[in-house]
Amino acid sequence: MHTLVLNAGYEPLAVVSFKRALMLVLNNKATILAGSADLTVHSANREFELPTVILLARYVRVSNSRAIPVSRRGVLRRDGHNCAYCGRYANTIDHVQPKSRGGRDSWENLVAACLKCNNKKGDKTLAEIGWSLSFSPKMPTGLSWVVRGAEKVDPVWSNYLALANAA
Ligand SMILES: [Zn+2]
Repeated sequence: MHTLVLNAGYEPLAVVSFKRALMLVLNNKATILAGSADLTVHSANREFELPTVILLARYVRVSNSRAIPVSRRGVLRRDGHNCAYCGRYANTIDHVQPKSRGGRDSWENLVAACLKCNNKKGDKTLAEIGWSLSFSPKMPTGLSWVVRGAEKVDPVWSNYLALANAA
């Protein structure tokens, strides 16, 4: 289970483990906004509900250009496991500009691809094989990415996420 971390201005910031969230609370860096009533933990002299949402005491500045490292899992998640070429279920990733032709490991050059398309495309460029992309691959940004990164979204979070979307 994980905890949603809100910045001091109540904007959702990240999803962290319970353990990390508790450390923030114990060090007075965050307060618990919502907890799981049936799970409590004890410290030397306090008892806590396991936090599901915490609020940071101090505002953390977030750079918009914060780079998200590219990964196979990340590319598949960004593209919703849809093959960029045929739209079928994809569980491999493809270099749009082949690596052997100078293509980089970047969000802009990697797309989800099914095994069939991946094999067919091989070391060819899109122009050579006559395929095109229906979107421009980019680094994912924003809150939806942070939250979708969690294995499981706690229903309690929706209150706080709705607030953020309205703002
Ligand atoms: Zn395909």
